[in-house]
Formats: sequence, structure tokens, C-alpha cells
Amino acid sequence: MARRFTGTFTQQDALPAEAIAAAVAVLQSGRLHRYNLAADEVGEVAHLEAEYRDWQGCDYCLAVTSGGQALQIALRACGVSAGDPVLTNGFTLAPVPGAIRAVGGQPVLVEIDQNLRLDPQDLQTRIESSGAKVLLLSHMRGHLCDMDRVMQICDRAGVTVIEDCAHTMGAGWAGRRSGNFGKVACFSTQTYKHMNSGEGGFLTTNDAGVAARATILSGSYMLYDRHGAGPDPQAFDQARYEMPNCSARMDAVRAAILRPQLAHLEENIARWNARYAVVERGLQAHNLIATIDLPSQESHVGSSIQFRLPEFSAAQCRGVIAAAAQRGVELKWFGAPEPAGFTSSHQSWRYVTAQELPQTDRIMATLFDMRLPFRFSEADCALIAELIGEAVMEVAA
Ligand SMILES: *Cc1c(COP(=O)(O)O)cnc(C)c1O
Repeated sequence: MARRFTGTFTQQDALPAEAIAAAVAVLQSGRLHRYNLAADEVGEVAHLEAEYRDWQGCDYCLAVTSGGQALQIALRACGVSAGDPVLTNGFTLAPVPGAIRAVGGQPVLVEIDQNLRLDPQDLQTRIESSGAKVLLLSHMRGHLCDMDRVMQICDRAGVTVIEDCAHTMGAGWAGRRSGNFGKVACFSTQTYKHMNSGEGGFLTTNDAGVAARATILSGSYMLYDRHGAGPDPQAFDQARYEMPNCSARMDAVRAAILRPQLAHLEENIARWNARYAVVERGLQAHNLIATIDLPSQESHVGSSIQFRLPEFSAAQCRGVIAAAAQRGVELKWFGAPEPAGFTSSHQSWRYVTAQELPQTDRIMATLFDMRLPFRFSEADCALIAELIGEAVMEVAA
């Protein structure tokens, strides 16, 4: 009998007691809508926006219903309209190409490298071949590109960068926070991200025009003066007439449960990184397992871990999933032909024009993924890494 991990891969930590108390207070008030406020009252959502703006170190912050809605709003606020080509990663989560299609854009997929980052050479090539003026850059699984190089390529070509920071809330590159490089950044507070409100998201920017357009797009019913981190009223002069209301406001319950979590974010990042380091060290003990390089300029948030088995066939990869499952370890594999759970390949996004991405396909064919929930102790993490090693050895034998 193989050794087994008996913990759970799907349970979350309970929310902090302050978050629960704050949510109950909102429920008792009955005033859940962000604009349902007394005359001079600053609501939970406005407080959260101001606190997140300060933490992120940007000028404006808008809270919305999901990360995916933040992406759609950001694209529209940057002027993307039907038929426009929009560059994005060939390896990302479905809401990213989904947001581009939702605004009528045409995703132009860019190759990734073996460390799961956008390939700058291919970015340059596809900027030239597509004529795209917007890059929706997905920091997939927390791996940041060489941001200096990517920004230089985009600035030179007049390409606007929107950062998808669903996995990089709290991460940084060369001392600067992820999200503060492009024109707009989008964050998710969905349960599996770095703060948990079930669903939710933020859009941040230093551009007053983008912030005003995004606010009207989010469905502000002309009550934008009640926001917590928005631009001056003059910024809305045109946006208020020109932007459609897409109703994507955050409500007071979610904001109430996020505010105390923001206060603990830094501490949680350290907890994730401790777990990441233990699993990474364990995996690095096996020469068949390739871990992902973390560049020295990157401050990574290790809320999940990825590794590759470059020598393995598809049948062997399937074997590893089964051998790990027998040991109580749930791995995700990006090489499966059918989309499953939170993994899918660009071939299954049939709403996107089919594109050739041989390098990305080769990398994804042997790529595995695992979240690192706080329910895992560091000892659990060490055991899990050993069990993955055993599963790989069993299949290789
Ligand atoms: C989760 C996620 C999103 C979108 O977040 P939702 O809040 O679920 O809409 C966007 N990009 C990536 C890479 C994600 O993982």
C-alpha cells in the first residue's frame, strides 16, 4: 500500500471573526446595495476601495462583482470595441479570452515560455502581425514576465497594457507592485484567489479617464460621488453620457468581509510562500521533475505551484495523475484534451479563432498544477511533495 495524504484539497480557512461580524452588521442593517447610504455616510464598498487603493499604491480603485467583469470593463474603458484584435497569453484561465470575446474583441494568443511567462519575442512578432493596440497580460499562476522588457516592447509599439492580476495580488517585480505597470489592473476576490468574498474584483488605475469610464460602466447610476477612490467629478463629463451601464457593482456584504482580509494579506502571503518553498524544495529533489524558475526580481505569491515532467508522454502524465490520486494528492494537468475544472487549453476556447501555438502546446502537454490551501501545514506540504515524487517514480519505472 502506498503512503497517503489524508487532508482535503478543497476546504478553505474560515473567514476571520471580524469579517463575519462585519457581514452580520451589514445584514442586520438590510442595506446591502453600495449606494443605500445615509446622507454623509461612507459605505463599506467605498471604504474598501480607498483601503485597496492605498495598499496597492495607485490613484483610483473600483470594486466590482468579479475579476472577469473587471477585465471586461477595463477593455471597454480602454476603448476596445467589436472586431478589435487584443493580445493575450496562450496559457491562461478561460475568463481572460472570455472577457475579450464578451466585448467583441478578437483574441490574438501569444506563446509562453517554459517558465509559464509570455514569450517577449513572440509578443513582438504578434504585435506586428496583428496590429493589435491592447495587450491583456495575464500573470498566470503568479508568474510575472520581465515587466521592464514587456513594457518597453508595448510602449514602443503604442500598445496599451491591461494587467490581469487574479494570481498576483500582493506580488511584485523589481520592488513595484504587480498591477502598477500597465494602464489598468484587474484583481479577483473569488474564493480561490488571495482574498475571499465568494465572487468579487477590483480595477485599479492611475488614469482618471479610465477610472471614470470604468465607474459608469460598472453601473454607478450617476452616484459616482459616493465612491471611495474615484476621480474628481469633472473626469465624468463625457463618460456619464457615453458609457453603457453594465451593472457590475460590488455589494456591502462582500466589501465588509474583504476589509478585514486586506488587513491580513501580507501575513497570508508569507504563509503561502512558506508552503510553496517546502513543496518546491521537495520536488526539486527529483531529476524528472522541472520546477518553474522564479526570477530574482520577482516577489512571488506562492498560492499554487506548477511543475513539468518534460520527458513524459501523455499516457505517463495520466498515470501520474492516477498514482498521485491513489496517494490522496489531487493534481491538475494542463495537457488533457478536454477542459476540466479550472484547467483548459486554447484549443477548447472555440469562441476564439484557432491559432498555432506549438511552443505553448509543448509546455502545457506535461504541465501540472496544485493549489496550496492554508489547511495544508508545512509538514503536509513536505509529505505531498514526497508523494508526488513517488507517483512520478512509479510511472517512470
Ligand atoms: C480567476 C481568474 C480570473 C477571473 O476571476 P473571476 O473573479 O473568477 O471572474 C481572471 N484571470 C485569471 C488568470 C484567473 O485565474
